[in-house]
Amino acid sequence: MVHLCSCVTAKVEVITVKIISRDSWGAKPNKTKFSKLGEVKGLVIHWSAYPIAIGNQAEMDQLKQIQRLHQVDRGWNDIAYNFLVGDTGQIYEGRGWGNRSAAQGGNSRQEINYNNKHYVAVCWLGGSKPTDKPSNKALKSVKWLHEQVGGELKPHSSFKQTACPGDAWRQWILDVQAIDDINKWVKDTPNTASPDMINPQSFQKKLDVIIAKLENIENKLKLGKLIQ
Ligand SMILES: [Zn+2]
Repeated sequence: MVHLCSCVTAKVEVITVKIISRDSWGAKPNKTKFSKLGEVKGLVIHWSAYPIAIGNQAEMDQLKQIQRLHQVDRGWNDIAYNFLVGDTGQIYEGRGWGNRSAAQGGNSRQEINYNNKHYVAVCWLGGSKPTDKPSNKALKSVKWLHEQVGGELKPHSSFKQTACPGDAWRQWILDVQAIDDINKWVKDTPNTASPDMINPQSFQKKLDVIIAKLENIENKLKLGKLIQ
């Protein structure tokens, strides 16, 4: 028997993330209508600065705590973030898609308005200690969320002087950006070009940058394993 099919099965990791709705986690309603997001420029990561929530129940308890802090103690319309994510990898709806967050502090009223109008906010449920680190499941979920949002990926500290969202997230954002840069470069390099069409000097320069980035990531992975 002759197989005529020469199909290749590619192994692609596809994660499907279900977002837990406000009703499902027991959110109180927002006090007034949300303002709408403008043109989306990217996703900004925050931490809640509460102890890391362990398990779904603790995550939902913390969501209610944050909502109470924002609505009652601070007198805001609602929980400030568009989405929240726990170490279980579960994403929870805050203000949700299309609405303006109230989380992105800036250095002036104008900056705050701009940041909230153009960036989606996600908050990780942890960060009572500056050394707190998110789980791999939380990282994967935020990566997925960023793929849905598109654009830039930023820590809150890129908008103003703040410890939020902590060193672990800041480092992870740098790693994601490095990998994206490499992918973009590979995609942009014409593979049909004949060797004499490529300037060897600029090619070598790009290659050096990529090798440095890869070594940096590899060292960090090794270091991570040693620490664990
Ligand atoms: Zn923040």
